[in-house]
Amino acid sequence: MDSRQETDFDAIVVGAGFAGLALIHYLREAGVSVRVFDRASDIGGTWTWNRYPGAATDSESYYYCLTFSKELLQEWRWSKRYAGWQETLAYMHFVADKCDMWPHIQLNTEITGAEYVADRGCWLVTTGGGDTYTCKYFISGMGMISEPVMPNVKGMERFRGPLFHSARWPEDLDYAGKRVGIIGAGATTVQMVPVMAQTAGSVTVFQRTPNFILPAMQRPMTPDWEKQIKDNYDEIVAKCRNHVFGMAFDSPVGRNAVDTPPDERRRIFEENWNGSFRWVFETFDDLLSSAEANRMASEFIIEKMRERIADPEVADVLVPKPGEYPLFAKRPPLDHGYLESFNRDNVHLVDIADREPIAEITETGVRTTRNHYEFDIIVLATGFRAYTGALEAFPIRGKSGRTLAQKWEKTSDSIMGVCVADFPNLLLVTGPQAPFANLPTSIEQNAIWIADCIRKMQSEGYDVFEPRRDAEQKWSAHVAEIHAQTLMAEGDKVHSWMMGANIEKHPPRVLIYFGGANVYYDKLRESVEAGFPELEFARLAG
Ligand code: NAP
Repeated sequence: MDSRQETDFDAIVVGAGFAGLALIHYLREAGVSVRVFDRASDIGGTWTWNRYPGAATDSESYYYCLTFSKELLQEWRWSKRYAGWQETLAYMHFVADKCDMWPHIQLNTEITGAEYVADRGCWLVTTGGGDTYTCKYFISGMGMISEPVMPNVKGMERFRGPLFHSARWPEDLDYAGKRVGIIGAGATTVQMVPVMAQTAGSVTVFQRTPNFILPAMQRPMTPDWEKQIKDNYDEIVAKCRNHVFGMAFDSPVGRNAVDTPPDERRRIFEENWNGSFRWVFETFDDLLSSAEANRMASEFIIEKMRERIADPEVADVLVPKPGEYPLFAKRPPLDHGYLESFNRDNVHLVDIADREPIAEITETGVRTTRNHYEFDIIVLATGFRAYTGALEAFPIRGKSGRTLAQKWEKTSDSIMGVCVADFPNLLLVTGPQAPFANLPTSIEQNAIWIADCIRKMQSEGYDVFEPRRDAEQKWSAHVAEIHAQTLMAEGDKVHSWMMGANIEKHPPRVLIYFGGANVYYDKLRESVEAGFPELEFARLAG
């Protein structure tokens, strides 16, 4: 190696969640030194930050995990269909312990800046404590839904009780008997309310847009089910790798809703109403591609949701109207008793879209245009700046000196979500324009591509790779073209984070590749096999 390129580490990774752990494994295999930094006091990423009551995986746990070791898959025992945050975090500790990953991990260390140093072909990385480190490869494992969005509501600083974002849950918060207000009604709130309602004095949800809510149907892992899973893990892993959303589902099923007679369609919808997103993928193949099929599915969900809500006036607010927006234009939450919670006396719903928008937060609660609601605690379950948020939260400066945030002011272009033109030797796990899928599946596929890229660099003696602008333009145009053909493109009408449409003063954009996670994983593989044609490899002169 050129001495100018001598660095503290070959690779610095930010984020000790699933991506950080996967990268430690694959980069160690590639023979490079790696240090993972995380500002949190524990590993876990999402599962260490999102400690709100009821936080759990929405993928079934037995495939929401890392698959690089058969031993890990066989040894770990999941207790239920969807693991809670504590169990997922314990699993991640198990992986880190078992694979001796801790020496690579530095916690309580926030990365506050990263700058590409062109004449040395390396990255200079700064921590909040003022330390600096150099590395040849700077890698983001910061997560695609990790940067919280605070709402712009007048008076937030005035509230006398605890007021915080759901992803920053105070460890010692005691909400028993307290009046809790929750602003936001997405997947987080849907998980939180049924648990909180059991002991809180009252829970009041301020909802702007209703969601299509699918039942989770939690159940314990039985010995028989566990055996069946563990006997078939190769097949389960292959299913994830070959599924459009990276899930271990049986699809495509080879039939379309629009071609199925109504009685038969209803029977199939009913028989498959068994919880998880399976219902969307294991009933018909056209629910997310045909507007008519999507409407059929939406109407069925609407009917199922309304059956569980006692008060029709509450149902009118909680349940989307037929034709209001397509199923999956917003990511549907999975329900562990949320809808029934509104049948309790201590759970209330406030329609802040039409009936009474929030005017301000006061010292003692929330004032809408019609009422004042008194609270002891206010939770802002207002979502995340998806895909780009963590990458824009501190300056990451590329070759031209521009930051990622500056580059992505209007569009968030990348090459397959793994690298970005003008940012040599920068690698991303699940960056913008990657698919939205079962995250551990995508994370591992990205980590494999990254490790293969680094392996080529190291073995062929290259110092720098430069992502090609034409490759970025080509990928972004392809992603945009597919996006425009999907029903998800209507997400901008309903503030969907999947298009960045939840961010004020920020134009909605194409953030996700909807051509199928399986197709995308194939493209990653093809890129490796073709020698990474999206990148230009170089040696430093002299
Ligand atoms: P979200 O789905 O973006 O929901 C945010 C909620 O806050 C929405 O109801 C939104 O209303 C509301 N909101 C935002 N700004 C507001 C404002 N200024 N005034 C009033 N309301 C406002 O966020 P999330 O519930 O945290 O979930 C985000 C994603 O994280 C999920 O879709 C999912 O992918 C992931 N997640 C996963 C799990 C899991 O897998 N176990 C659990 C939780 C979350 P509008 O809808 O009108 O914009």
